Amino acid sequence: MTLPTTGPFKVCFVIGTRPEAIKVWSLVVELKRRADFDVQVVLSGQHRELLRQAVGLLGLPVTLDLDVMQPAQSLERLTATLVERVSEALAQLRPDAVIVQGDTTTVFVGALAAFYAQIPVGHLEAGLRSGDVRHPFPEEMNRRLTSALADWHFTPTQTARQTLLAEGVPAERIWVTGNTGIDALRLMHANLDRYPGDPRLAAVLACPAGRLLAVTVHRRENQPFMRRIAEAFARVLELHRDIRIVFPVHFSPAVRAAFTPVLGDQPRCHLLEPVDYADFVRLLARSHLVLTDSGGVQEEAPHLGKPVLVLRRTTERPEAVSAGVARLVGDEPDAIVAAVTELLTDAEAYRRMARRISPYGDGYASPRIADILTHSIRKRGRS
Ligand code: UDP
Repeated sequence: MTLPTTGPFKVCFVIGTRPEAIKVWSLVVELKRRADFDVQVVLSGQHRELLRQAVGLLGLPVTLDLDVMQPAQSLERLTATLVERVSEALAQLRPDAVIVQGDTTTVFVGALAAFYAQIPVGHLEAGLRSGDVRHPFPEEMNRRLTSALADWHFTPTQTARQTLLAEGVPAERIWVTGNTGIDALRLMHANLDRYPGDPRLAAVLACPAGRLLAVTVHRRENQPFMRRIAEAFARVLELHRDIRIVFPVHFSPAVRAAFTPVLGDQPRCHLLEPVDYADFVRLLARSHLVLTDSGGVQEEAPHLGKPVLVLRRTTERPEAVSAGVARLVGDEPDAIVAAVTELLTDAEAYRRMARRISPYGDGYASPRIADILTHSIRKRGRS
């Protein structure tokens, strides 16, 4: 791997989904501020609508949109198409480094294509592990394979660093920077007035009645359990008359088929189209409690001091659970109803979990990563 000795250092972000766009945002902004760097952003289009919504809102400068997604495309076809299309994009753009974020097929293939082209790879949010290579599928394997391919490993936590060390990644290639997702949350939360927001959500949030439960459920591995998770939410609404659920429902047909029939007619349940990131931050900030199977939302809720019940059996983000501000409740209705009921009725239990802490970073990961990249360039003879 060689780095160039003249001109700005071209850094190419390869992203494919909404959380990747949100979590590279602060680093894109940071690198664009610095004269040492040229920034390129390549969209794989692995998720079309949600990715474009986030990219548009955050103003990410898109260099190429590969738009690879086809209806009902298999994982094999997606992977094969991405290897070709990302490789062609890298041949055209000739970046000096590729940055990927997280655990999607775009991340793995972005790192693989860069490796084939002998371009060094930086991995944001490196070192997370659920401990089960088939769960989440294929994300856990994507993340492991990306670790095998990356040159710079930027981890959110010490735990993630230890994981990589135990897998044989050299210590000098790992930096504990915090998660850039917390940078995004910090920036968005401080600048919400710059983003207009959807008036329908504003009306829901402005209504003073009832404590708000912010909900998201979309993970593929939860699909077999979504109907009973929906029924658990209906029981919670029945038991607790002073609450409202606000649930932006993912576009996935499987998710809609599970939740809409059970919750669509519930008067205190607002099923919404996916809201943009600014609105989602407004929703989190206004909520009393968060129920989610999302990775990113598990990180965001504690930063805003909101207790989070994780609707999954395992998590690759154990730090908030260890800190006592998140609880793994899985997908059994009785467990979900009991956990929500405890937090709604036991003020002390609620207070213990509603602590504003930030196990995944202090919101300044991106300047650290930019410094590390700058240092890497200078070490190789750049001024
Ligand atoms: N998010 C959003 N709008 C929504 C739901 C979530 O902008 O309606 C944001 C959320 O703040 C977080 C990210 O999307 O930053 C999480 O994405 P998702 O849950 O799709 O993926 P995961 O984090 O599980 O990979």
